[in-house]
Amino acid sequence: MADTIALVTGANKGIGREISRQLAAKGIFVLIGARDRERGEKAVADLRAQGLPVEFIQIDVTSQPSVDHAAAEMERRHGRLDILVNNAGIALDWFPASELTVEVLQKTFETNVFGVFRVTKALLPLLRKSKHGRIVNVSSGLGSLTRNADPNSPLAVRNMSLAYCSSKAALNMITIHFANELKSNGIKVNSANPGFTATDMNQHRGVRTVEQGAATPVRLALLPDDGPTAGVFSDDGPEPW
Ligand code: NAP
Repeated sequence: MADTIALVTGANKGIGREISRQLAAKGIFVLIGARDRERGEKAVADLRAQGLPVEFIQIDVTSQPSVDHAAAEMERRHGRLDILVNNAGIALDWFPASELTVEVLQKTFETNVFGVFRVTKALLPLLRKSKHGRIVNVSSGLGSLTRNADPNSPLAVRNMSLAYCSSKAALNMITIHFANELKSNGIKVNSANPGFTATDMNQHRGVRTVEQGAATPVRLALLPDDGPTAGVFSDDGPEPW
């Protein structure tokens, strides 16, 4: 395991930090991706104080120069990548679609969709050098087309957060397309639903702990070679798209 290298984006706090902690506790060398150097280095110092093998890497998923610089830096430092956890995400709209603006929709997609695509593309050459590449896209049950379309589901009754929901639905399509393309390379790509987890994203109203929220992303990051690809999963197993 000591030879396994992972990158977690948005790893300075919340679910991403906990995913990093759990992976590092298994002996994986984890690159703590954060857009803000101070916040990232603080997380690294805290995790190192627990004896965990982690290192800071600055990466703002909305900035092509930042992502390119991070990819070049990872190539220089490690020469490959085994696990990519696309965790960085934002949720800005807690209101119905009629109140949403194009600006908020674009801003949400810039991080949750284009950011994931940008990071994945930039790091594919390094992932292809791994013998057991894994990509985990941290999605959400709110991105389920099936549940949003079911008039009896609580999601459809609530009917809020179009920007966030549609960004995670688009993210799930990114999962499927990369999974299909990379299958022959042995790289597995899956979406993880952490469940409603208490973090800054929801002012800590979530009902799950970060330890619980990180469990499925970590499981998917550590899938064996005969594990699934092109799926969306929660703690309960496969979920509907
Ligand atoms: P969080 O505590 O708000 O953490 C979000 C992380 O993403 C922070 O580290 C943040 O960095 C980072 N980030 C945001 N924009 C970024 C950018 N442009 N570049 C790099 N990093 C960026 O939220 P969370 O609840 O842990 O969310 C983590 C993931 O889980 C997200 O993808 C979210 O959609 C998903 N999720 C969460 C829940 C839930 O109930 N919490 C449920 C389902 C899915 P800064 O500190 O610099 O802002």
